Amino acid sequence: MPKIALPTPLRPYAGGRDSVDAEGTTVGEALAALTAQHPPLQRHLFDEAGRLRSFVNVYRGDEDVRFLDGAATPLAEDDTLWIVPSIAGGAPTTEEAAPPLTNDEIRRYSRHLIIPEVGLAGQRKLKAASVLCVGAGGLGSPFSLYLAAAGVGTLGIVDFDVVDDSNLQRQILHGTSDVGRKKLESAAARLWDINPNVRVVPHDTRLSAVNALDILRDYDVVADGTDNFPTRYLVNDACVLLGKPNVYASIYRFEGQASVFFAEKGPCYRCLYREPPPPGLVPSCAEGGVLGILPGLLGVIQATETVKLLLGIGEPLIGRLLLVDALGLRFRELKLRKDPDCVLCGPNATQRTLIDYDQFCGIPHPEAAGPSEMSVEELKAKIDRGDNFVLLDVREPHEVEIAALPGSVRIPLRQLPEQLDRLDPAAEIVVHCKLGPRSTRAVKLLREAGFPRVWNLSGGIDRWAERIDPGVPRY
Ligand code: ZN
Repeated sequence: MPKIALPTPLRPYAGGRDSVDAEGTTVGEALAALTAQHPPLQRHLFDEAGRLRSFVNVYRGDEDVRFLDGAATPLAEDDTLWIVPSIAGGAPTTEEAAPPLTNDEIRRYSRHLIIPEVGLAGQRKLKAASVLCVGAGGLGSPFSLYLAAAGVGTLGIVDFDVVDDSNLQRQILHGTSDVGRKKLESAAARLWDINPNVRVVPHDTRLSAVNALDILRDYDVVADGTDNFPTRYLVNDACVLLGKPNVYASIYRFEGQASVFFAEKGPCYRCLYREPPPPGLVPSCAEGGVLGILPGLLGVIQATETVKLLLGIGEPLIGRLLLVDALGLRFRELKLRKDPDCVLCGPNATQRTLIDYDQFCGIPHPEAAGPSEMSVEELKAKIDRGDNFVLLDVREPHEVEIAALPGSVRIPLRQLPEQLDRLDPAAEIVVHCKLGPRSTRAVKLLREAGFPRVWNLSGGIDRWAERIDPGVPRY
């Protein structure tokens, strides 16, 4: 006997069953028998005039019956009739506009096609969809791998970086043989190998206030896979201005956060965090480290949310902040509300364009090193001359264990305020950390505490290892 497969939302009206026997020899007869047997289904499937509701599609196998003989479409013994409601909202593409699937694609996506919530219509929506992934790093890796595999038609990637040894612990888009190669090239090759049906669009640039609106404009959904505050605010603001959903995640050590910021339906990132923390206060993963698996967890959550948005199914993470604690393996959820005073998405929003995000986040432009900056070359010259100065290392003890410069005084940044008496206010002091943010903060703190001759080592011990002493390990 033919069967009727029921989608999850309709099962409560059919005694909780996921499928029932189809009684009748045509689609029309089978649906009539179904609603006769389960009367509550009637109003979900048909309007007052008895017509199938416009947001409900019926498939015989993988064919939409509207393109067969409608209600008169015959049913054979082993046929399955699929009822697929297209849930309103979130789906950027109408089914009619979505391209058909080739036979190869039908085979490739068969595990999707047999989920009623995806089905042929959903898979065609994915094929018609375009998603932008900002960053081909830790979060962007699992995100883009799964979206390519899932059959998202167009996958844009913004990145300007080169694959480095220290990326491989978590950035699984790239392999050992890719070290030294542009991340975009390595990503495109890997994604095309996973699914040659996907159009990968590389954007070889640093996303900025100048180019962001032009780059984001063509995409249905934007995923934020960045690791720095200026770009995170830039992505948020550009998405709000363009009316795009921004699928967000961030990671640090063993903890992660995820949400979907979609100003039309809920809060934006600015509603959650009005202003960025001062530079150096919240360490980046490069400074503080991250468990390599964590971006996998969070990037997969971003991919899941993106697919749900594209299909218009389920309950998106809009208005909710998911907190992931990998050490306790606990997931917690916080309610997020729209900030009525949000300058970007509130009713009295004042910001209508993109701004200078480095300035907003208090980050000096890298090219415009202030008078308090010292290059690694200058430090080398100072050491070679035998100048009398103090080299202050403000990194944590476990980092000093990995790599350290000889003769340095070691006071972790967080202990610096209580240990100022270890330093001579009259001395010349050069401060370094791993990359620069913590030492920048230490320099500010020392200046305010009355140490006038303080320098920040630009690029930290990492740049020292890169340019001066390759014997110092980089981590
Ligand atoms: Zn907002």
